[in-house]
Amino acid sequence: MILGQNLIDGNWVGSENLRASDDLEGQSFAQATAAQVDEACRAALRDFRAYSGKSRAERATFLRSIAEQMDVLGDEIIQTGMAETGLPEARLVGERGRTTGQLRMFADLIDKTGYLDIRKDGALPDRTPLPRPDLRLTHKAIGPVAVFGASNFPLAFSTAGGDTASALAAGCPVIVKGHSAHAGTAELVAQAIAKAIEICDMPAGTFQIVQGSGREVGSALVQHPDIRAVGFTGSLAGGRALYDLCHARPSPIPFYGELGSVNPMFCLPSAMGTRAAEIGAGWAVSLTMGAGQFCTNPGVAVMLKGPDADALETACVAALNQTAEQKMLTDGIHAAYEQGVRAFRDLMTEVTSCGAATGKRAALPALFKVSAAEWMATPQLQHEVFGAAGIIVLCDTLDEMRDVAEALEGQLTLTLHLDDADQDFAGDLLPILEEKAGRLLANGFPTGVEVCSSMMHGGPYPASTDVRATSVGTLGIARWLRPISYQNMPDALLPSELKG
Ligand code: NAP
Repeated sequence: MILGQNLIDGNWVGSENLRASDDLEGQSFAQATAAQVDEACRAALRDFRAYSGKSRAERATFLRSIAEQMDVLGDEIIQTGMAETGLPEARLVGERGRTTGQLRMFADLIDKTGYLDIRKDGALPDRTPLPRPDLRLTHKAIGPVAVFGASNFPLAFSTAGGDTASALAAGCPVIVKGHSAHAGTAELVAQAIAKAIEICDMPAGTFQIVQGSGREVGSALVQHPDIRAVGFTGSLAGGRALYDLCHARPSPIPFYGELGSVNPMFCLPSAMGTRAAEIGAGWAVSLTMGAGQFCTNPGVAVMLKGPDADALETACVAALNQTAEQKMLTDGIHAAYEQGVRAFRDLMTEVTSCGAATGKRAALPALFKVSAAEWMATPQLQHEVFGAAGIIVLCDTLDEMRDVAEALEGQLTLTLHLDDADQDFAGDLLPILEEKAGRLLANGFPTGVEVCSSMMHGGPYPASTDVRATSVGTLGIARWLRPISYQNMPDALLPSELKG
């Protein structure tokens, strides 16, 4: 049952400031006060040593228990998520599986010490001109972490999502700022985590959630002196504002923002000659998945102009014109999409003719085309319109295609559609693309991010705020760890993994 409260230091607490849910009838949510945010941060720091001091096996058991408790939530979590986000049942069932899978993946990761990147340089007492001391390095939890969940992944990138799972695995207490677009879903997951805390006898400050619409709660959280790092998934504007707050603190802290991206695809000539229509139809599917509300949505396709480009356009437009309208996540995201498409109409030629959507928060796809020269001269066309809006960028020559690659801002992903005969040119492009994105794909579409050890889900700014970090996959744990060297430390005082 949803209480509409915040979980602070083991207690569910309300406040006088209530916000009615847009989607759950009769339900309101207590917005955390500044005093409650302060109390949560103090509890997290108070319990940091106790929690990070738990053995790796105890933390792994805790993560597995959270996954079990999420499964226990059964249909209630799915129905609540559907009501709040408009996402279909199958998507949310799949997302829950991904979320519990991530929790179990991090439990498995910390079963072994590999993630601690242990280094040992033994003493060289006879070295000249100076002896070398005994040096050993391991990684320790950074401290209490604030997590901002995403509107478009109410489970996998939210309350018990990848940031929370990796931070808890690292040994960091977590305070989640619940997303106002799915406060009920967030609370139900928080209840599951609270149950796991009880079962595993973890300290109360290990996990807490504060709800709050607008800027106050999030701003207070990232500026609190007891918070030591922040994980954020969301918009460029929101992420940048919070990043700036983190770096303006008297004691600055790392802010890991996974932001937006237009994920361009380069459609090379030989591949276009053999399967332009197939690429166009596949793009339509990827572009409209989840109403285009994916950070990896491929919003731009770059190709040589000519009959193959026409074939791609025809196939893509045919598929898009058949696409039913889809409900978007929030009124704000819907309004931003409609406004973004209107702005595109002023700047480019629209090739779809989907008409106007009629349902509440409903949207239809829109495809545009523009010359590479105009695209490069109009920075606005590189900005993400969150939703199913695509742009075909037409180049006169391969040199111009290379110029487009050089002009790109940082991206989460970049894709090459290529055949064997395209490999020489692809080899020219690749060093440019490697500088621009965290994940490079061949002959696929970037939506659908595998959760595994070799995944990189991040990229150069503005795709993310730290080019070295990923929010998906086992490498995500590195964000919440810091290296510590021990010099000539007696064996008895060393962390267990460094002894001997
Ligand atoms: P958002 O508006 O930035 O909101 C994210 C969270 O930050 C919410 O909790 C929001 O509070 C809070 N917030 C936003 N601006 C703030 C500010 N100035 N001060 C304090 N708190 C602030 O993002 P969204 O609309 O939910 O998500 C859509 C965006 O996320 C898209 O651009 C998409 O590409 C991106 N995204 C990226 C990834 C990735 O992995 N890179 C994944 C999914 C989505 P409220 O609860 O009040 O809104």
